[in-house]
Amino acid sequence: MNRPTYLAIWGLMAAWLLLAGVGCGGHDTPALMADTPPPKIRIRLGKPRTRAELSISRQAWSIRSEAGASYAARGESTLKTTLRPGAAGIKVRGGDTRASVLRIRSDAWFTLDGKTYPGALIVRSGTEKGEEGKLILINELDMETYVAGVIGNEVGPKAEAATYRAQAVTARTYAWMRLQRSGAATRRFHVYDSTASQVYTGMTIPAVYGIRYQEMVRRTKETRGVVITHRGRPFAAYYASTCGGHTTEPATSGLDAGRAKDPLRGVPCRYCTTSKYFRWDKSFSDDHLVTALNRAKRPVVAPIHTLEIRRRGRGGWVAEVRVIYGPKRAVRTIPGYVFRSALKLRSHNFASIARIRGGWRVKGKGWGHGVGMCQWGAIEMGRKGATETEILRYYYPGIDFTKVY
Ligand SMILES: [Zn+2]
Repeated sequence: MNRPTYLAIWGLMAAWLLLAGVGCGGHDTPALMADTPPPKIRIRLGKPRTRAELSISRQAWSIRSEAGASYAARGESTLKTTLRPGAAGIKVRGGDTRASVLRIRSDAWFTLDGKTYPGALIVRSGTEKGEEGKLILINELDMETYVAGVIGNEVGPKAEAATYRAQAVTARTYAWMRLQRSGAATRRFHVYDSTASQVYTGMTIPAVYGIRYQEMVRRTKETRGVVITHRGRPFAAYYASTCGGHTTEPATSGLDAGRAKDPLRGVPCRYCTTSKYFRWDKSFSDDHLVTALNRAKRPVVAPIHTLEIRRRGRGGWVAEVRVIYGPKRAVRTIPGYVFRSALKLRSHNFASIARIRGGWRVKGKGWGHGVGMCQWGAIEMGRKGATETEILRYYYPGIDFTKVY
């Protein structure tokens, strides 16, 4: 069922390459041959921390300093150590290396705090604000292997192959854009391993999803190097869990559309009605509202007279809410997405805000920022037999597919 689409993507790409000549987004890509290696990407693993348990089993390994004092160690079988920050550098194997950056390699994989990752581990002493006295742990590996470690987490419980392929293309496009940013080559890392970027857990996929890592590798391979483009340029291929009936445009969610206003304009979606978060409601007190808005640096004081939807963006997503507050009945207008994050709501796709005793009740739809592919919709479309090209063209109208390596 899916094979023909896969071939269709390649057909489209071949046509594109013939028409447009080789090259993508203005970047000089001299040879888009099947054997061009994928670029390397660096992912920050978790938050800066004061210790991490590293193990490498039954493989050759090496540790080499990249900054600070020179340090090197190697072994032929097993490494089991606690990584710690030290006053004069990173501590490893119980000793002070006096190095501020270490690169740890193995033949195939390493295990860090219970999760197994492919590629190399870079350990850095934290240097930026809030990182002092902590370690920054970074996984460096090729883009394709990174994408395989993302899609299982992002799709969640077992879905159709087409859905994983669609997610692989969006995940790769997002990461590719991060690599195209200026100064990317010298950045410590390009993406986080959380929803701040895309959820990545290396080779360890949560067991509850009922999928195997090898299947994710296969689905990724089936779209190797393919990104979505608009007028020949890759763009930030945003996606979110559940749109609640209509996706929205980047401006309403505080995101940057770049040159891709058209594919990110927002489309109706009738595929996510089965999501647990298709509809939700949440109530909070006036006190909680005051505290939450103050914390979000949109200060208000009691009493709260009015809380209302002031303006809606594409698909009904809330662009602005208005609060009338305090003894002087002051007015504050707050972007919907800021309000959502301040009150920790699932989305800013509110159907209504109503006065209840001592507080407010918000009825809403969907989960996430609402821009680009609706992941729940992509799962449901896959289940109904849609191919990855159909899914992607549905949520990002007017796109093309480009093979960047
Ligand atoms: Zn949807």
